[in-house]
Amino acid sequence: MAKVKTDRRKFMKYSSLGVLGLALGGGIIFSPYPVQAENRLRPPGAVDEKRFLGLCIKCGQCLQVCPYHSIKLSDIVKGYGVGTPYIDANERGCYACSAVPCVLACPSGALDHHCEKPEDIHMGVAVLEFPDTCLAMNNTPIPEGFSTKMHKFTNSVRDVTKLELDLVKKLDEFKGKQCTLCADMCPIPNPMSAIAMVYDSSAGGHKPEIYDGCIGCGVCQEVCPTQTPSIVVKPRETYESVYQS
Ligand code: SF4
Ligand code: SF4
Ligand code: SF4
Repeated sequence: MAKVKTDRRKFMKYSSLGVLGLALGGGIIFSPYPVQAENRLRPPGAVDEKRFLGLCIKCGQCLQVCPYHSIKLSDIVKGYGVGTPYIDANERGCYACSAVPCVLACPSGALDHHCEKPEDIHMGVAVLEFPDTCLAMNNTPIPEGFSTKMHKFTNSVRDVTKLELDLVKKLDEFKGKQCTLCADMCPIPNPMSAIAMVYDSSAGGHKPEIYDGCIGCGVCQEVCPTQTPSIVVKPRETYESVYQS
């Protein structure tokens, strides 16, 4: 009888683990966060969120080929779409590589192969969320130590690339200047189609203005030197949905 109880306990334990494993493998969510509450920046070419969660096989191929270490796999702490790739623009945006290698590497269709060049990327759209803190609008020069976060990130990756080293070098050249970082670091081939610094007479300074060429790559959010980025990307939104609705 004692053996039967032990076997039953073992069965319960392993079947629970099995269910958990299946759930994680299949992208089912055990989370205090409702699915709709999550709105992450997904890698270039990501199909709509529901299909993305169904198609992504969590192989990590996209992040392995990214030369900027822009892509992460979500972990159990967040409890949503565990193992699926996302981009944390506070840490590292997407630099819109010309051949979009992350999409090419995706074997499942979760990243749509019709996304072949930077202009095909539509991850979201940038918004000047906190104009009051924007350095340019306040005519405040870029302070010392503004690039520490990016240096730390670059130093933390084991296989840092020349592209990443060039990036921090370029960033450091802005120290002490009037802030135009979001516009000048915008990585798309024609950044003027996405963002430009325009004079704002009410503020007495310049402000970044967003245009319909913005692909939502998150670089402006990454490089914005204010403590909480003044400019942020709204994942999966479009220029039309944010600026013309
Ligand atoms: S386009 Fe380039 S930088 Fe952006 S996520 Fe893909 S591989 Fe990384
Ligand atoms: S404006 Fe910002 S989010 Fe839009 S393409 Fe440029 S850097 Fe990327
Ligand atoms: S990078 Fe940030 S602080 Fe600088 S101009 Fe853009 S929004 Fe303003």
